[in-house]
Amino acid sequence: MSVEFHCPSCGKKQFSYEPRERRYEKVIKSCKSCGKEYLDPRSHELAAEGIPADAFSVTPYLLMLVVGGLIGWRGWYLFGRHQLGTPSEISWLLPSVFLIMGVVCVIASIVGIIRIKTGSKQKQFERLMQESRMRLKDTDYAGKLQALGYALPREYTIGQEDSGNEG
Ligand SMILES: [Zn+2]
Repeated sequence: MSVEFHCPSCGKKQFSYEPRERRYEKVIKSCKSCGKEYLDPRSHELAAEGIPADAFSVTPYLLMLVVGGLIGWRGWYLFGRHQLGTPSEISWLLPSVFLIMGVVCVIASIVGIIRIKTGSKQKQFERLMQESRMRLKDTDYAGKLQALGYALPREYTIGQEDSGNEG
């Protein structure tokens, strides 16, 4: 189920998004209509929110592998079999769609598992974390985030001038 996001200032629709969608990029965006800045609900600062706990879990990929395998197997099984209510000229269509969907799921899940196991996903998150730290060190950006109500860790908050390095 996708959700519509509207500008908090003028109410103009900005985009539709899946609530599960997570982007690791600048959180502040400008309204296409009124130009005012808002917090993009899709976007997250890794340096403020941390790496999601399930980022390196293989379970969702294993699930996708099994489901993809079943769908693909079903497609394979349906080839050459009579399907009720389907004209014979297009009887290859459904099995082909199943088979392709299944194969795509299987490949995607294997690639996902390999990226976790080889540490390549870890490296990607480290790079994203570094980019996020650089963004938050920009006091102008951090100040705007705070003003818009985004919770920042103490080391990035603006206003309290203690340069201590605790934490
Ligand atoms: Zn607006």
